[in-house]
Amino acid sequence: MTEPVLEIRHVHKNFGALRASHDINLTLLPGEIHALIGPNGAGKSTLIKQIAGNLRPDAGEIRFLGQDVTELDTVSRARMGLGRSFQISSVIPEFTVLQNVVLALQGAQGTSYHFFRAVLKDRETTAKAREAAERVGLGDRLAVWAQDLSHGERRKLEIAMALALEPKAFLLDEPMAGMGTEGAAEMTRFLDQLRHEAPILLVEHDMDAVFSLADRISVLDYGEIIATGTVEEIRTNPEVRRAYLGE
Ligand code: ADP
Ligand code: MG
Repeated sequence: MTEPVLEIRHVHKNFGALRASHDINLTLLPGEIHALIGPNGAGKSTLIKQIAGNLRPDAGEIRFLGQDVTELDTVSRARMGLGRSFQISSVIPEFTVLQNVVLALQGAQGTSYHFFRAVLKDRETTAKAREAAERVGLGDRLAVWAQDLSHGERRKLEIAMALALEPKAFLLDEPMAGMGTEGAAEMTRFLDQLRHEAPILLVEHDMDAVFSLADRISVLDYGEIIATGTVEEIRTNPEVRRAYLGE
């Protein structure tokens, strides 16, 4: 059997009386897109935060590349190759596309931000940043201020910031949020390419995107995974249809 890249074992997380994660078990296998769907407030982002290391589970284990990373912080996990699409807020609007990607690389290297100007002159780092930007299709937008990017371009910039670190897995929390049909379709094509770089755990509300991209889908409801399966299995699962697809 193939070793999972990422493995969540019996993870629990409560916020007071609220069960945000209840006995979560989930794997991400090499080469796959595993979509995580569920109604608002089901606990999708909470799970992503625990995997990335922003939140500590109350119980359970998170394994990445065969290693228990439950006690590691976000930076250590990122350095191991856990690529998280940065929140929009981590994109600095007054920086250019290239500068933002350099900043992501510098963050992972752990260099003090006081040395940002020096890092910007480092050819190896800027070359890496440029390559990541080119791979997401922002090659001709390197010198554009992040604040002047379209919504879709900004999402791509976030992914470039993750991609620059040469991740072994991607965690993407709603990459299509706020995009029109056109943008979502373009992002879908893009993620279909991105899967060749590393497997993707994809939280997404856009069902067209999920159904066309996912190898497997897990459905979260009130902090619990109520089903995991192929697109066909999930589409036809009566419990899922009741809980999520509104039938
Ligand atoms: P989703 O991403 O599926 O919409 P979230 O993981 O953001 O859901 O939230 C799951 C539940 O946990 C929600 O009821 C939310 O209000 C609650 N929640 C999330 N973060 C916190 C927090 N830091 N403190 C208290 N409650 C939280
Ligand atoms: Mg969320």
